[in-house]
Amino acid sequence: VVTTIRAAVVEKSGTLPEIQEVDLVDVGGDEVLVRLAATGVCHTDVGWAAGDYDALEGAFPFPVILGHESAGVVEEVGANVTHLRPGDRVVLTLAHHCGHCGYCARGTPMLCDQRVQNRTRHIRDGLPIVQGHGTGGFAEATIVRAVSAIKVPADVPLEVAALLGCAVATGVGAAVNLAQVRPGSTVAVIGAGGVGVSVVMGAKLAGAERIVVLEPNADRRAQVAAFGATDTLGADEAAAAELEPHGFDYVFESAGRGDTMEMAVRLARKGGTVTLIGAPPPDVSVTLPALDFVASQKRLLGCLTGNVHPDIDIDAYCRLYLRGELPLDRLVSARIPFDDLHVGFQRTADGVGLRTVVVF
Ligand SMILES: [Zn+2]
Ligand SMILES: [Zn+2]
Repeated sequence: VVTTIRAAVVEKSGTLPEIQEVDLVDVGGDEVLVRLAATGVCHTDVGWAAGDYDALEGAFPFPVILGHESAGVVEEVGANVTHLRPGDRVVLTLAHHCGHCGYCARGTPMLCDQRVQNRTRHIRDGLPIVQGHGTGGFAEATIVRAVSAIKVPADVPLEVAALLGCAVATGVGAAVNLAQVRPGSTVAVIGAGGVGVSVVMGAKLAGAERIVVLEPNADRRAQVAAFGATDTLGADEAAAAELEPHGFDYVFESAGRGDTMEMAVRLARKGGTVTLIGAPPPDVSVTLPALDFVASQKRLLGCLTGNVHPDIDIDAYCRLYLRGELPLDRLVSARIPFDDLHVGFQRTADGVGLRTVVVF
Protein backbone atom coordinates (compact mmCIF):
# COMPACT_ATOMS: atom_id res chain seq x y z
CA VAL A 1 0.00 0.00 0.00
CA VAL A 2 1.48 3.35 -1.00
CA THR A 3 0.49 6.25 1.22
CA THR A 4 0.82 9.54 -0.67
CA ILE A 5 0.77 12.70 1.41
CA ARG A 6 1.68 16.38 1.15
CA ALA A 7 4.97 17.38 2.75
CA ALA A 8 7.03 20.59 2.90
CA VAL A 9 10.45 19.88 1.38
CA VAL A 10 13.46 22.20 1.72
CA GLU A 11 15.48 21.40 -1.41
CA LYS A 12 18.77 23.04 -0.52
CA SER A 13 20.50 25.33 1.93
CA GLY A 14 19.17 28.87 1.90
CA THR A 15 15.72 28.04 0.51
CA LEU A 16 12.25 27.85 2.04
CA PRO A 17 10.08 24.73 2.31
CA GLU A 18 7.79 23.96 -0.61
CA ILE A 19 4.76 21.73 -0.29
CA GLN A 20 4.68 18.75 -2.66
CA GLU A 21 3.46 15.16 -2.84
CA VAL A 22 5.64 12.41 -1.38
CA ASP A 23 5.09 8.75 -0.50
CA LEU A 24 5.60 7.09 2.88
CA VAL A 25 7.49 3.79 3.13
CA ASP A 26 5.86 0.78 4.81
CA VAL A 27 5.68 0.99 8.61
CA GLY A 28 8.53 -0.99 10.22
CA GLY A 29 8.08 -3.41 13.11
CA ASP A 30 9.00 -0.90 15.85
CA GLU A 31 7.45 2.14 14.14
CA VAL A 32 4.16 4.00 14.01
CA LEU A 33 2.54 6.06 11.26
CA VAL A 34 1.14 9.27 12.72
CA ARG A 35 -1.36 11.53 10.93
CA LEU A 36 -0.21 14.96 12.11
CA ALA A 37 -2.57 17.51 13.65
CA ALA A 38 -0.13 20.30 14.57
CA THR A 39 3.57 21.17 14.34
CA GLY A 40 5.25 24.17 15.97
CA VAL A 41 7.86 26.18 14.09
CA CYS A 42 11.17 26.20 16.00
CA HIS A 43 14.22 28.41 15.48
CA THR A 44 16.25 25.31 14.66
CA ASP A 45 14.00 24.62 11.64
CA VAL A 46 14.54 28.14 10.34
CA GLY A 47 18.30 27.92 10.97
CA TRP A 48 18.58 24.54 9.21
CA ALA A 49 16.76 25.83 6.11
CA ALA A 50 18.83 29.03 6.12
CA GLY A 51 22.07 27.01 6.15
CA ASP A 52 23.20 28.07 9.64
CA TYR A 53 24.45 24.54 10.34
CA ASP A 54 25.99 23.77 6.93
CA ALA A 55 29.45 23.80 8.52
CA LEU A 56 28.51 20.63 10.46
CA GLU A 57 29.28 18.49 7.42
CA GLY A 58 26.41 16.10 6.70
CA ALA A 59 24.64 16.49 10.04
CA PHE A 60 21.98 18.82 8.62
CA PRO A 61 21.47 17.49 5.05
CA PHE A 62 19.12 18.41 2.20
CA PRO A 63 16.58 17.79 0.80
CA VAL A 64 14.83 17.66 4.16
CA ILE A 65 11.34 17.68 5.66
CA LEU A 66 11.73 19.85 8.77
CA GLY A 67 9.38 20.14 11.77
CA HIS A 68 10.15 18.44 15.07
CA GLU A 69 7.49 19.77 17.47
CA SER A 70 4.49 17.68 16.48
CA ALA A 71 1.37 15.96 17.72
CA GLY A 72 -1.15 13.83 15.90
CA VAL A 73 -3.13 10.61 15.81
CA VAL A 74 -1.66 7.14 15.34
CA GLU A 75 -2.95 5.59 12.12
CA GLU A 76 -0.93 2.38 11.88
CA VAL A 77 1.41 0.50 14.22
CA GLY A 78 4.25 -1.92 13.41
CA ALA A 79 4.06 -5.61 14.25
CA ASN A 80 6.16 -5.27 17.43
CA VAL A 81 4.40 -2.24 18.88
CA THR A 82 2.32 -3.12 21.93
CA HIS A 83 1.85 0.19 23.78
CA LEU A 84 0.10 2.15 21.03
CA ARG A 85 -2.86 1.46 18.76
CA PRO A 86 -4.57 3.28 15.89
CA GLY A 87 -6.57 6.25 17.18
CA ASP A 88 -4.18 7.08 20.03
CA ARG A 89 -3.39 10.80 20.33
CA VAL A 90 0.36 11.29 20.65
CA VAL A 91 3.07 13.92 20.92
CA LEU A 92 6.33 13.16 19.10
CA THR A 93 9.46 13.61 21.21
CA LEU A 94 12.97 14.37 20.07
CA ALA A 95 14.70 11.65 22.04
CA HIS A 96 14.33 8.82 19.48
CA HIS A 97 16.26 6.80 22.09
CA CYS A 98 17.01 3.08 22.17
CA GLY A 99 16.20 2.54 25.84
CA HIS A 100 19.18 0.30 26.69
CA CYS A 101 22.54 1.95 25.86
CA GLY A 102 24.69 3.46 28.62
CA TYR A 103 23.22 6.92 28.20
CA CYS A 104 19.65 5.63 28.32
CA ALA A 105 20.55 3.58 31.40
CA ARG A 106 21.96 6.70 33.07
CA GLY A 107 18.64 8.50 32.53
CA THR A 108 19.90 10.75 29.72
CA PRO A 109 17.89 9.53 26.71
CA MET A 110 18.67 12.70 24.75
CA LEU A 111 22.32 11.62 24.67
CA CYS A 112 21.48 8.09 23.48
CA ASP A 113 24.18 6.52 21.30
CA GLN A 114 21.55 5.07 18.97
CA ARG A 115 19.67 8.33 18.55
CA VAL A 116 18.85 8.59 14.85
CA GLN A 117 18.39 12.20 13.82
CA ASN A 118 18.11 11.99 10.09
CA ARG A 119 16.01 8.99 9.09
CA THR A 120 14.36 8.63 5.71
CA ARG A 121 10.72 7.50 5.67
CA HIS A 122 9.41 9.79 2.94
CA ILE A 123 10.13 9.01 -0.74
CA ARG A 124 9.94 11.27 -3.79
CA ASP A 125 10.57 9.99 -7.32
CA GLY A 126 12.10 6.87 -5.80
CA LEU A 127 14.62 8.82 -3.71
CA PRO A 128 14.47 9.19 0.09
CA ILE A 129 14.06 12.58 1.77
CA VAL A 130 15.54 13.15 5.23
CA GLN A 131 13.24 13.67 8.22
CA GLY A 132 14.67 16.66 10.08
CA HIS A 133 15.46 15.79 13.72
CA GLY A 134 14.07 12.31 13.07
CA THR A 135 10.53 13.65 12.92
CA GLY A 136 9.55 15.25 9.59
CA GLY A 137 6.65 17.17 11.14
CA PHE A 138 5.91 19.58 8.31
CA ALA A 139 3.97 16.88 6.50
CA GLU A 140 0.44 15.51 6.68
CA ALA A 141 1.81 12.26 8.12
CA THR A 142 5.11 10.79 9.25
CA ILE A 143 6.60 7.53 10.46
CA VAL A 144 8.63 7.53 13.70
CA ARG A 145 10.00 5.00 16.13
CA ALA A 146 7.17 4.00 18.46
CA VAL A 147 9.36 4.95 21.44
CA SER A 148 9.19 8.58 20.23
CA ALA A 149 5.37 8.74 20.28
CA ILE A 150 3.97 9.49 23.74
CA LYS A 151 0.23 9.26 24.44
CA VAL A 152 -1.55 12.41 25.61
CA PRO A 153 -4.89 12.62 27.44
CA ALA A 154 -8.06 13.32 25.44
CA ASP A 155 -8.58 16.78 26.92
CA VAL A 156 -5.18 18.21 25.92
CA PRO A 157 -5.59 19.94 22.51
CA LEU A 158 -3.08 18.56 19.99
CA GLU A 159 -1.84 22.04 18.99
CA VAL A 160 -0.87 22.55 22.65
CA ALA A 161 0.51 19.02 23.01
CA ALA A 162 2.80 19.63 20.02
CA LEU A 163 4.76 22.21 22.02
CA LEU A 164 5.65 19.54 24.58
CA GLY A 165 7.94 17.99 21.96
CA CYS A 166 10.52 20.78 21.84
CA ALA A 167 9.92 24.22 23.39
CA VAL A 168 8.22 23.14 26.60
CA ALA A 169 10.32 20.02 27.15
CA THR A 170 13.46 22.11 26.63
CA GLY A 171 12.54 25.07 28.82
CA VAL A 172 10.72 23.35 31.66
CA GLY A 173 13.27 20.52 31.58
CA ALA A 174 16.16 23.01 31.76
CA ALA A 175 14.75 24.45 34.99
CA VAL A 176 13.47 21.24 36.58
CA ASN A 177 15.67 18.39 35.25
CA LEU A 178 19.02 20.07 34.63
CA ALA A 179 19.42 23.16 36.84
CA GLN A 180 17.05 21.74 39.49
CA VAL A 181 15.79 25.16 40.57
CA ARG A 182 15.04 25.27 44.30
CA PRO A 183 12.09 26.88 46.13
CA GLY A 184 12.74 30.49 47.14
CA SER A 185 15.60 30.97 44.68
CA THR A 186 16.37 33.80 42.26
CA VAL A 187 16.36 33.16 38.50
CA ALA A 188 17.36 35.20 35.44
CA VAL A 189 16.24 34.14 31.95
CA ILE A 190 17.92 35.70 28.91
CA GLY A 191 15.70 35.49 25.83
CA ALA A 192 11.93 34.97 26.00
CA GLY A 193 10.85 33.04 22.92
CA GLY A 194 8.98 29.73 23.24
CA VAL A 195 11.88 28.13 25.12
CA GLY A 196 12.61 31.12 27.38
CA VAL A 197 9.02 31.44 28.61
CA SER A 198 9.02 27.68 29.17
CA VAL A 199 12.03 28.17 31.45
CA VAL A 200 9.97 30.81 33.28
CA MET A 201 7.10 28.31 33.68
CA GLY A 202 9.52 25.64 34.92
CA ALA A 203 11.17 28.01 37.42
CA LYS A 204 7.76 29.03 38.74
CA LEU A 205 6.69 25.39 39.07
CA ALA A 206 9.90 24.73 41.02
CA GLY A 207 9.05 27.54 43.45
CA ALA A 208 11.51 30.27 42.46
CA GLU A 209 10.84 33.49 44.35
CA ARG A 210 12.14 35.95 41.77
CA ILE A 211 12.18 35.34 37.99
CA VAL A 212 13.78 38.15 35.98
CA VAL A 213 13.44 38.07 32.18
CA LEU A 214 15.87 39.93 29.91
CA GLU A 215 14.36 40.29 26.43
CA PRO A 216 14.88 43.08 23.89
CA ASN A 217 11.52 42.51 22.13
CA ALA A 218 8.87 44.67 23.88
CA ASP A 219 5.95 42.56 22.61
CA ARG A 220 7.45 39.41 24.16
CA ARG A 221 8.35 41.32 27.34
CA ALA A 222 4.70 42.26 27.74
CA GLN A 223 3.68 38.59 27.79
CA VAL A 224 6.11 37.02 30.24
CA ALA A 225 4.38 38.06 33.48
CA ALA A 226 1.51 35.70 32.60
CA PHE A 227 3.99 32.80 32.71
CA GLY A 228 5.41 33.75 36.11
CA ALA A 229 8.09 36.39 35.49
CA THR A 230 8.36 38.83 38.42
CA ASP A 231 10.55 41.44 36.65
CA THR A 232 11.08 42.20 32.97
CA LEU A 233 14.00 44.09 31.48
CA GLY A 234 15.44 44.74 28.05
CA ALA A 235 18.81 43.14 27.26
CA ASP A 236 20.17 45.18 30.15
CA GLU A 237 22.86 43.46 32.21
CA ALA A 238 23.41 46.44 34.50
CA ALA A 239 19.71 46.65 35.39
CA ALA A 240 19.63 42.91 36.14
CA ALA A 241 22.75 43.19 38.31
CA GLU A 242 21.13 46.05 40.17
CA LEU A 243 18.10 43.88 40.99
CA GLU A 244 20.34 41.14 42.46
CA PRO A 245 23.68 42.73 43.44
CA HIS A 246 25.09 39.39 44.63
CA GLY A 247 24.01 37.62 41.44
CA PHE A 248 21.29 35.09 40.66
CA ASP A 249 21.07 31.54 41.96
CA TYR A 250 20.22 30.34 38.43
CA VAL A 251 20.78 31.96 35.06
CA PHE A 252 19.42 30.53 31.78
CA GLU A 253 20.53 31.61 28.33
CA SER A 254 17.99 30.84 25.58
CA ALA A 255 19.00 33.42 22.98
CA GLY A 256 21.73 31.23 21.46
CA ARG A 257 24.39 33.97 21.27
CA GLY A 258 27.95 34.00 22.50
CA ASP A 259 27.77 37.45 24.09
CA THR A 260 24.63 36.65 26.09
CA MET A 261 26.14 33.31 27.18
CA GLU A 262 29.06 35.25 28.66
CA MET A 263 26.57 37.66 30.25
CA ALA A 264 24.77 34.68 31.78
CA VAL A 265 27.95 33.56 33.55
CA ARG A 266 28.56 37.06 34.90
CA LEU A 267 25.00 37.35 36.24
CA ALA A 268 25.26 34.19 38.37
CA ARG A 269 26.11 34.51 42.05
CA LYS A 270 29.09 32.74 43.60
CA GLY A 271 28.23 29.05 43.48
CA GLY A 272 25.35 29.79 41.10
CA THR A 273 24.24 27.60 38.20
CA VAL A 274 24.33 28.76 34.57
CA THR A 275 22.42 26.73 31.97
CA LEU A 276 23.05 27.31 28.26
CA ILE A 277 20.04 26.34 26.14
CA GLY A 278 20.05 28.47 22.97
CA ALA A 279 21.59 26.82 19.88
CA PRO A 280 24.14 29.19 18.33
CA PRO A 281 25.70 28.66 14.88
CA PRO A 282 28.58 26.14 15.10
CA ASP A 283 31.38 28.70 14.81
CA VAL A 284 30.38 30.58 17.98
CA SER A 285 32.68 30.29 21.01
CA VAL A 286 32.45 31.82 24.46
CA THR A 287 35.27 33.20 26.60
CA LEU A 288 35.26 33.00 30.39
CA PRO A 289 37.45 34.87 32.85
CA ALA A 290 39.04 31.64 34.06
CA LEU A 291 40.33 32.69 37.47
CA ASP A 292 37.06 34.37 38.38
CA PHE A 293 35.08 31.35 37.19
CA VAL A 294 37.22 28.96 39.27
CA ALA A 295 37.28 31.16 42.36
CA SER A 296 33.54 31.85 42.28
CA GLN A 297 32.75 28.14 42.00
CA LYS A 298 29.99 28.59 39.45
CA ARG A 299 28.44 25.66 37.63
CA LEU A 300 28.01 25.74 33.84
CA LEU A 301 25.57 23.29 32.21
CA GLY A 302 24.73 22.53 28.59
CA CYS A 303 21.10 21.68 27.85
CA LEU A 304 19.78 19.48 25.04
CA THR A 305 15.97 19.47 25.01
CA GLY A 306 15.87 19.79 28.80
CA ASN A 307 17.25 16.27 29.24
CA VAL A 308 13.63 15.22 28.83
CA HIS A 309 12.53 11.79 30.04
CA PRO A 310 9.65 11.43 27.59
CA ASP A 311 7.62 8.73 29.32
CA ILE A 312 7.72 10.58 32.64
CA ASP A 313 7.86 14.25 31.71
CA ILE A 314 5.34 14.50 28.84
CA ASP A 315 2.67 12.87 30.98
CA ALA A 316 3.48 15.15 33.93
CA TYR A 317 3.38 18.29 31.75
CA CYS A 318 -0.06 17.23 30.41
CA ARG A 319 -1.42 16.81 33.94
CA LEU A 320 0.06 20.12 35.08
CA TYR A 321 -1.49 21.80 32.03
CA LEU A 322 -4.91 20.36 32.84
CA ARG A 323 -4.57 21.65 36.43
CA GLY A 324 -3.76 25.13 35.11
CA GLU A 325 -0.16 25.11 36.33
CA LEU A 326 1.43 25.23 32.87
CA PRO A 327 -0.36 27.94 30.83
CA LEU A 328 0.60 26.37 27.51
CA ASP A 329 -2.27 27.93 25.54
CA ARG A 330 -0.58 31.29 25.94
CA LEU A 331 2.49 29.97 24.12
CA VAL A 332 0.57 29.61 20.86
CA SER A 333 0.80 33.11 19.37
CA ALA A 334 -0.55 32.14 15.95
CA ARG A 335 -2.15 29.15 14.23
CA ILE A 336 -1.51 28.95 10.50
CA PRO A 337 -2.67 26.50 7.83
CA PHE A 338 -0.05 24.17 6.32
CA ASP A 339 -0.10 26.10 3.02
CA ASP A 340 1.14 29.20 4.90
CA LEU A 341 4.19 27.47 6.39
CA HIS A 342 6.49 30.12 4.88
CA VAL A 343 4.64 32.73 6.99
CA GLY A 344 5.50 30.69 10.09
CA PHE A 345 9.16 30.61 9.03
CA GLN A 346 9.15 34.39 8.56
CA ARG A 347 7.46 35.04 11.92
CA THR A 348 9.96 32.79 13.68
CA ALA A 349 12.95 34.37 11.92
CA ASP A 350 11.66 37.83 12.89
CA GLY A 351 10.93 36.83 16.49
CA VAL A 352 7.20 37.62 16.16
CA GLY A 353 5.12 36.11 18.98
CA LEU A 354 6.19 33.19 21.13
CA ARG A 355 5.33 30.13 19.04
CA THR A 356 3.68 29.83 15.63
CA VAL A 357 1.92 26.49 15.14
CA VAL A 358 0.99 24.90 11.83
CA VAL A 359 -2.44 23.27 12.11
CA PHE A 360 -3.20 20.55 9.56
ZN1 LIG B 1 13.08 22.84 18.46
ZN1 LIG C 1 20.09 4.59 24.12
